[in-house]
Amino acid sequence: MSRIYYTKPSITELEVGYATDAARHGWGERCYEYIGRFENAFRQHLGVKHAIATSSCTGALHMGLAAIGVGAGDEVIMGDINWIASAAPITYLGASPVFVDVLPDSWCLDPAKVEAAITPRTKAIIAVHLYGNVCDMAALQDIADRHGLALIEDAAEALGSSWHGQRAGSMGAFGVFSFHGTKTLTTGEGGMLVTQDEKLFEKLAGLSNHGRVRGQSRQFWPDLIGFKYKMSNLQAAVGCAQVERIDELIEAKRRIFDAYAERLQDLPLTMNPQPAGVVNGYWMPTIVVNEGVEFDRQALLDAFATEQIDGRVFFWPLSSLPMFQPVPGNTVSYGLYARACNLPSYHDLTTSEIDRVCGVVRRFVK
Ligand SMILES: *Cc1c(COP(=O)(O)O)cnc(C)c1O
Repeated sequence: MSRIYYTKPSITELEVGYATDAARHGWGERCYEYIGRFENAFRQHLGVKHAIATSSCTGALHMGLAAIGVGAGDEVIMGDINWIASAAPITYLGASPVFVDVLPDSWCLDPAKVEAAITPRTKAIIAVHLYGNVCDMAALQDIADRHGLALIEDAAEALGSSWHGQRAGSMGAFGVFSFHGTKTLTTGEGGMLVTQDEKLFEKLAGLSNHGRVRGQSRQFWPDLIGFKYKMSNLQAAVGCAQVERIDELIEAKRRIFDAYAERLQDLPLTMNPQPAGVVNGYWMPTIVVNEGVEFDRQALLDAFATEQIDGRVFFWPLSSLPMFQPVPGNTVSYGLYARACNLPSYHDLTTSEIDRVCGVVRRFVK
């Protein structure tokens, strides 16, 4: 019985060819060539003016938050159900994440709860498009505008997702992406910061280059303390190949989700929604068993393990982690995670492997 991983990258001769070329020739005056190409191609895919390749999404978010002026004592609002990487950079800057409840259907920020959490110290809202699901961007932008806050998109899980024709990550003050090995497009490790804002980009161009502002002609002259979160040319070479195949990569994720949804449609559970106006990139097919239905998540995960299938728990409420204060009032978040888990999804997952996963799910959700 072959192991079914929860994700793995799709690597072809194209990636191997570019990476080999970068290793052989991508040095000296060509040491930034693939980086520039990758940023350009990604920028065009997304329909944005500026893109800066980084070593991770976490680094991109750290740098972006610093660029918009988040600092000590500030508050940044985000959804309680999330990966730690969206919260950690807030703390690096001496600011505090404020965890608000999520919507029961999209598992993303509840706009009414966001508005209620705003204080004089609030600086920004981070809209994380969870598992490919898209946040209610119209409601969040309206709130951000009325309160003079920056709306930021963490689109690490939302490549291929869009909101009324605009790609996830392209709408906020800035957007960040991850190219970690588990993501829809990968460079092994890596990330990208994108923005439409000329002034913010100018600032980031300096910050991302150890504080050497653009146009500074003096050699080795940092004008301020910046960051060092650059992507290497080798990683960017892999990224160039992946971005050439981006439609294929996204289509595979969507096809896999549809195959799961079709097989599980009669069960008392919901999966990633795709409401009118939204396209879901379906990074991670997720089941949430209906409230009131008997379901032992650990038993399902144990059965997956026996069957050589990687099951993955839904994100814990961040506020339930030991380094934060619990917010039990986030009843949706605290009510969701124990009923939910992610199903394997990678580009060459076969129909019979999907059948195998669904067969196990059916034994535990009735
Ligand atoms: C994967 C992920 C990140 C972190 O990406 P890295 O490239 O590993 O830093 C951040 N936010 C979300 C929502 C993610 O899923």
